[in-house]
Amino acid sequence: MLCSTDRAPVYCIYALLEPPFTLKSDTLVQAFQSSVPPSVPDTPLSIQPCGCLLVLDKDLARVLQCSANAEQYLRVAVDDLLDHRPEHALGKRLIGKIRTELRAANRLSGPLSIQKVIDGRKTRLQVNAFQSGNSVVVEIEPITPLGNRRLMGTVNQWLTKLSRAPTPDSLIEILVAGVRDITRFERVLVFHFDDEGHGVCLAESLAKGLSPVLGQRFAASDYPESQREKFAAREVRSIPDLGADGIPVMSSATLSEGVVREIDASGTVLRAPSRRQRNFLDDFNARSLLSVAIVSQTGLWGMVTCISATPTPLPPTLRDAARTLVTMATQRLFLLKARMESSFLLQVQESRDFLVEDVKAGLSPSDMLQKYGSEWLALFRAGGLACKTKGEISEIGLTPPLKTVATLAERLERRHGQGVWLSSRLKDDPVSDGLDLNGCCGMLAAPMPGEDSAGWLMFFRREHDRTFYWAGRPQADALVSSPGDGRDLRRTFSIWQEEVRGTSEHWKPVERLAAADLGEDLALLASASEITRLNEMLREEQQALARANEKLREAVSHDSLTGIWNRYRTEQELDKELAKARRHKLPFCVLLLDIDHFKQVNDTWGHEAGDELLRHIACDVTGVLRQEDHIGRWGGEEFVVVATGASRADGVVLAERILAAVAGVRITQMPEGVTASIGVATWRPEDKRKELVARADKAMYAAKTGGRNRIETDQGL
Ligand code: GH3
Ligand code: MG
Ligand code: MG
Repeated sequence: MLCSTDRAPVYCIYALLEPPFTLKSDTLVQAFQSSVPPSVPDTPLSIQPCGCLLVLDKDLARVLQCSANAEQYLRVAVDDLLDHRPEHALGKRLIGKIRTELRAANRLSGPLSIQKVIDGRKTRLQVNAFQSGNSVVVEIEPITPLGNRRLMGTVNQWLTKLSRAPTPDSLIEILVAGVRDITRFERVLVFHFDDEGHGVCLAESLAKGLSPVLGQRFAASDYPESQREKFAAREVRSIPDLGADGIPVMSSATLSEGVVREIDASGTVLRAPSRRQRNFLDDFNARSLLSVAIVSQTGLWGMVTCISATPTPLPPTLRDAARTLVTMATQRLFLLKARMESSFLLQVQESRDFLVEDVKAGLSPSDMLQKYGSEWLALFRAGGLACKTKGEISEIGLTPPLKTVATLAERLERRHGQGVWLSSRLKDDPVSDGLDLNGCCGMLAAPMPGEDSAGWLMFFRREHDRTFYWAGRPQADALVSSPGDGRDLRRTFSIWQEEVRGTSEHWKPVERLAAADLGEDLALLASASEITRLNEMLREEQQALARANEKLREAVSHDSLTGIWNRYRTEQELDKELAKARRHKLPFCVLLLDIDHFKQVNDTWGHEAGDELLRHIACDVTGVLRQEDHIGRWGGEEFVVVATGASRADGVVLAERILAAVAGVRITQMPEGVTASIGVATWRPEDKRKELVARADKAMYAAKTGGRNRIETDQGL
């Protein structure tokens, strides 16, 4: 709820800036008009009495205007100044110098000085000059002695401190302390204009007993862009004594009104305070002011503002010293900021260098998130990070639900297209309409450009709870404010306390840049890992195919129950062996083995036990064969062994080993073992496979009839 305020509709910082040129202090002008010839028209400008002003024509040949107090400083009457050559008051040498310098620049590179005898005392006057339109404005201010203050030394000490400040925060702390030390104002502040144009007091140095305004904000609406631009151009505003009477600037009677109107000397540091500035200083209960602009490449970054409740005479030397500190601090401020930014970019760059290695290693974006996610969260000061690629969404930290991430990505893709997208108040953006954001208030989304659909890298920030203290009422309707306690230094300011909800910290331009780079890297990674994934799939499919082929081969040549060769494969081997024997005249044996009373095994212990027994026999018999021998299942409970290079006697020895092996086989289902009968046939040169096997079969049959559990050969068959 917004509460009303009885504060005058004249606000704060605006007043610190430029007065509009309409200033015309009627009473003051009238007061002076009585002492000057009526033929001299007044000008809209008055100045402060701490110096005097001359306005010369472009060629420095003639004085067009002068402040009514010129005689006090220059010892020449106003009438003798107007329309006369300026050398008359300022001397030939000085005018010569000004002429030379202004040929090359708009403003003198530094102040010049002359000496005058004022009230019987030698007084040094500081002279500054700058071009303004078709005229040249000359400012003359007395250099009051600083007594025993050693200004150079003090300034140098502060400059040294500033040059050593390690961070922007410490820098502006030193700056306010330094400026206060030099100027002796009661209160020195650094204001910064934030991203939304609001002024916020970042640093403050103040005399004992004063209440601080550190952290106080001033609404952007209070200082329009045009005023900020003017202040950035003029840089310094000085009001040593708000109560001092303004001095009108007089024009030569020979000038037409049009020409007078064209003259603009308002850029002078001497100009009298505007009504706004008066109101501002009143609000602060202040009577003196010095403001120095902090100007960045993009415009007015902020300002150093000094105020005091009493008049603060500020000789130009002190004012320039304060300005020197601000200039130095400004340079260092932006250097430090640039350094912080480049160190941030460097860290992101390092992360990116690692990424390249990981692309080689074939890591996916989600692997990357697991590996670098927390580092990136810290770098980007984010609470969560999500990465949406074509196929997957991965996340780390505090993010909205995956469904929301997917929808956000889709909407960004559709509505926003390419390029980084960011918001520090996500819930107010249509992109998040109807979505559960899980407390995420800010999003920085960088596209990960891909072939068809882009992926998105999304950083999320949670709510950044803030309480703003406003001087005057901020205009934004969305802001919820309630008046704070009014105990403070101002008479008419009301303080507004604002709880800012639903907003995250703002994203910096450098973070936007870095996110864009990271997004591109991850896109590269995503496509690299997609290729790796496809290759992997291809390899797996190939392996599956190879395995299927292998199975097929097995099925063709192996017996499915025992895993040894089947009859088909055994016959092939027999044919090979026959051919080999024929060629090399190498004998070999064929053993036909038949388990005794196998039917009974099935009948007594079940078919399962029979199978088990067959498996074990196949395995154990294989175990007693030589490397070059082969065993195959001939059918049922019959096996054939091909014993390469074996004579009949060798065959018998082998058969005995096999009988022993069969007898030794035990399975859990059966308490006892079984026996086998073996027929051994030896190769004969005229043999074909059929005859050879038939002889083995006959021999085996002989073994059966001979009592089983024995060996018979084909000798004599
Ligand atoms: P013999 O001593 O005369 O060889 O007697 P036997 O019982 O071993 O011979 P028979 O030819 O009468 O029976 C062979 C049995 O082998 C019949 C069949 O049930 C069994 N058999 C054949 N193949 C398998 C098989 O793969 N698994 C099992 N469990 N039994 C089989
Ligand atoms: Mg049989
Ligand atoms: Mg049998």
